[in-house]
This record gives sequence, C-alpha cells and structure tokens, in this order.
Amino acid sequence: MDKHVESFAGRSELLDQLRRGENTDWDVIVIGGGITGAGVLREAARLGLRVLLLEQKDFAWGTSSRSSKMVHGGLRYLASGDWKLTRHSLLERERLLQELPGLVERMGYYFTVREGTFPGRFAMGLVLRVYDLMAGIKDHRFVALPELLQRFQGLSQKSLRGACYYTDAITDDARLVLRVLQEARAEGARTLNYVSVSKLLLGSDGVEGVEACVPETGEILSLTARVVINATGAWADRLRGQLTPEKRIRPLRGSHIVLPYDALPVDAALALLHPRDKRAVFVFPWEGASVVGTTDLDHPEDLDIEASISNDEVDYLLEVVQQQFPTNTIGRENILSTYAGVRPVIAAEQAKDPSKERRDHAVWFNEGLVTVSGGKLTTFRLIALDALAAAAARLPAPKAATGDRVFTPTTVTADSLKLADRALAQRLVARFGNLATRVVEEAGEGETRRLAGSDYCLAELRFSLRHEGVMQLDDLLLRRTRLGQLLADGASALLVQLKPLCQQELGWSEDYWQSECQRYQLLWSRYYGVPLVAPEEVVHAGS
Ligand SMILES: Cc1cc2nc3c(=O)[nH]c(=O)nc-3n(C[C@H](O)[C@H](O)[C@H](O)COP(=O)(O)OP(=O)(O)OC[C@H]3O[C@@H](n4cnc5c(N)ncnc54)[C@H](O)[C@@H]3O)c2cc1C
Repeated sequence: MDKHVESFAGRSELLDQLRRGENTDWDVIVIGGGITGAGVLREAARLGLRVLLLEQKDFAWGTSSRSSKMVHGGLRYLASGDWKLTRHSLLERERLLQELPGLVERMGYYFTVREGTFPGRFAMGLVLRVYDLMAGIKDHRFVALPELLQRFQGLSQKSLRGACYYTDAITDDARLVLRVLQEARAEGARTLNYVSVSKLLLGSDGVEGVEACVPETGEILSLTARVVINATGAWADRLRGQLTPEKRIRPLRGSHIVLPYDALPVDAALALLHPRDKRAVFVFPWEGASVVGTTDLDHPEDLDIEASISNDEVDYLLEVVQQQFPTNTIGRENILSTYAGVRPVIAAEQAKDPSKERRDHAVWFNEGLVTVSGGKLTTFRLIALDALAAAAARLPAPKAATGDRVFTPTTVTADSLKLADRALAQRLVARFGNLATRVVEEAGEGETRRLAGSDYCLAELRFSLRHEGVMQLDDLLLRRTRLGQLLADGASALLVQLKPLCQQELGWSEDYWQSECQRYQLLWSRYYGVPLVAPEEVVHAGS
C-alpha cells in the first residue's frame, strides 16, 4: 500500500498488537491529536524516532478544528510589541503558503478606518509596513472609499474613510491537522484516535509511560516510552496535574457564526471594530460561506463537554454585522451553523482582560513529562521543535535531518486527474496532495461530481471513510469535510446519499446507521446549531 495512503488505516491491527503486548514500547508517546500533537509527531518521525500519537476523540476534534482558520502573523501581537512571535509566525505563514498551495491560501484583509476611531490610517499603515517587511512582502496599501464600497456592498458608510489593506492566509484547520498526521505516518509514526490517556505511569526515572483507555471495549493498555509529550491544549493541566498542583492554562472560548454567502457576500476578510468594546471582529469567506468571529471569553465550563456558542455570543456577533451591514437584514434565521473552540492561553501571573493575555506557547518539563500548550495553528512546526528540544536529553541521537519541509511536494496536477470540473480537480489536489489520484481512482460512478450547494464531491467522502480513520458521522461531516457546517441543518439532506457509502466502507448495519444519524443530529443541534432562545428572552429582546 502507498505509504501515504496507509496513513490512518490499521487502527484495529495496531490495537490488536498493543493488546498482545507487541509494539508497546516507544521512543515518544504524544498525547493529543490537534495541530500541536500532529506537529510534534511529524518532527519526531523525521528524526527517526518510534512515535505514537493518542487522541481521546477524533483527530482535530479539539480547538484545531474550531479556530478562525487564519494562517497569520497576528497583527495584534505586533501591535502589542510581540515582535518575535509576529516574525516567526509570518515566516511560518510564508512557508505554509509555499508548501501547501491551495490548502493554505493568501487572502486579502481590509481593516476599516472610520473617523475618530483608533487605529487610524497612519498608525495602521505604519504597523502594516513593519508587518510586510518582516514577512519579506509588500502587499499593504490604503484603499479609498469607492473601491472599498465596491468590494463590500452594503457596508455602512457612516464616518467611513476607507480601509488599510494587507494580506494573510486562510486554511481548513482540520484538514491541515490531517495533512500533518499523514506526513508523520508516511515516516513511520502511528496514530490512534478514540484512545484516551487516563494516567501517567511513574517509575524510578519519572514518567515512563501511560495508561490508555479504548472506549469501545473499556480496555486499559499500558504503554511505555522514553518521553511522554502532553500536547492536550486546553486540557494540558489535567495530565500535568498528576505531577504538580500548578495550573497554567486559562481556557478562553472563541465562537463563530457561519452565514450563507448570499446573506453576507464577502470575498476577502474584513476587520470590524465591535461597537460595544472596540474589539476587532472578522468577517471572512471560507469554503463558500461567510464566517463572523471571534469572541474571547473565559470558559469555566467542563472541558469534557463540547464547547458551544452562547446566546449572548450570537447576539454580540450579529450586532456587529447588523451595525456595519444595515441593509443586509441579517438575523438568527440566516445562520447556517455555529462553532466554538477553547483557546489554551498561558495565564499571566496577574489575571488580565481575556483579550490582553499573550498567545505564545509554553513548554514545561516535569519528571519526564513534556507539556506543550498555547500558541497558534500557524506556528505548529516551531512549537514542535521546542517540545522536542525539551525532551532531547531522554531521546536517542537523531538520524541525519532530511531537509525541513513539513509536506512532501505535490507532483500530481489538476490536469492529470482528468476531471471535467477543473476547479474541483484543483481543490482535490490542494486538499489531498499526491493522494488526489487515489481519491479519483477509488471513486464510484458519478462520485466526482460536486454535491449540490457545495464544493465537495462524494469521492472524497468515500476516500475519508476508507482511509482517514472515520469512526463516527461527525468525524466525516465536521472534520474530514465541513459539510455539517456549510449546508443547512448540519447537511441532514445529504444523509441519504451517505448511507450506502458508510455501509460499504465501514460495514454499518441499518440499525447502527439509524442510531448514528440520531446521535449526529442531536450533537449538531446542541453544539453546532443556533442555541434556542427561551421565550422570556425573546420578549425581553423585543421590548
Ligand atoms: C476561537 C479560536 C480562534 C483561533 N484562531 C486561530 C487562527 O486563526 N490562527 C491560528 O494560528 N490560531 C488560532 N487559534 C489558536 C489555535 O486554534 C490553537 O492554538 C490550536 O488549535 C491548539 O492546538 P492544540 O493541538 O494545542 O490543541 P487541540 O486542538 O485542542 O488538541 C488537543 C487535543 O488533545 C486531546 N486530549 C485531551 N486530553 C486527552 C487525553 N487525556 N488523552 C488523549 N487525548 C486528549 C483533545 O481531545 C484535543 O483534540 C484560535 C483558537 C481559538 C479558540
């Protein structure tokens, strides 16, 4: 089998081996299948280490599928004087644009300038000049009012002077995680989703392994490793808490609403200052829809419960688009879906306003456990290198490095896929790299046609079911693809077309299919739909 295709296959074989006591001894066990864990796995595999990643739910289930999807330097880090973080992020952004064309795409950003608001044209222009200089590009300019109004039709002209334009990049965050995992697997790393680590195993030399729980059977597996790397994001204090009482993660929730493109047609990102608190909220195009976000709030809720948007957050996000696009009449009824993620922010010693906390990552070493948390999608490679540096003393000498690319160059071209829909072919190449050929080869009759109302085709869903470790419907509809966020009602109208695919590829029985559909629809309406408004709230809002 193609070493890339092998990626996520073999879950049950690997579990069988672990049960038999084979393959239970690793150089590195990485806990957490978000972008941080995936990055560590990728870099550890490059060094020739025997490495296993364990994820309690699905790959990218945590924050890494719920971000603002921006591969960016982070203008606000620059504005707050965090030059180092900005420069590193910008260089990583440029690297990702080069290595993953189509999956990481440059996007124009417009920062509106209104009379009497800060930052104004000149302050912003200065910041953007430095921003571009650090990245080695020159994209920024001031956009006068007529051009701005042409680009964003319906934008309120009240005290509007124009916008400062610059570029950053956008991605599909969950797909990015999968691509990083795929590269790691191609170098021999192994991955298991739906296996959680419940306990650290301690020996005379500190942490010597983990106890992992397989939820479908309730089994507990004991696995040993020279180093255990805790890359569990917002959950990081939990495992680290088995060694030290110190708590350093401040979970901050950020939520978004997804609108149909027609309700708010934007083809570039627009930064708007919220009328309530002057925070920048972005409206940006993503996968054919328009997304508005984010909020930034303390998240004291139980982390075992999936994060979801609150009614207040829905109102907050609607308020800014209603104020800035008054004629578009956007309301709750327009919202296609919502999502919320929990940012693992490293707390300052003194509690600060959530939006003022630093967004850098941190690495801690406690009795053989390396914990890495915080940071961003964009800088995952650098975060991984820092985590591995902290583990180096316990690891065997690395093999000679083979360059520093994260992603194998894509040699497959859109033309070579020979699809009538060239844009779809290009999209498959961007998302699957060299595996795009396999996506098309393994497609059934008519499966390389776009699904109504989306840019996806059934061929990629079949491929994901067969090769990408899908265990549940939400893995397929919310992370391998984003159809559940982009089509009405969590893509429930599509389920009838998915049934034969799931039955053929995963062997699901009729009963199992029915219960899985019910579970998915309930999950979607609880965590990805618009929260219900209590009747008394409706009266209050309208009075
Ligand atoms: C609203 C929001 C917007 C953002 N926007 C951007 C952006 O535009 N650009 C950007 O660069 N960054 C952005 N970020 C930051 C970025 O998304 C995060 O820094 C990043 O996704 C964190 O990745 P992670 O792998 O550390 O955590 P996660 O993705 O949360 O992964 C941790 C994983 O660990 C698993 N886990 C937990 N406990 C266990 C256990 N005991 N056993 C096994 N597995 C376990 C969890 O299930 C989870 O999947 C944003 C964050 C938020 C919240």
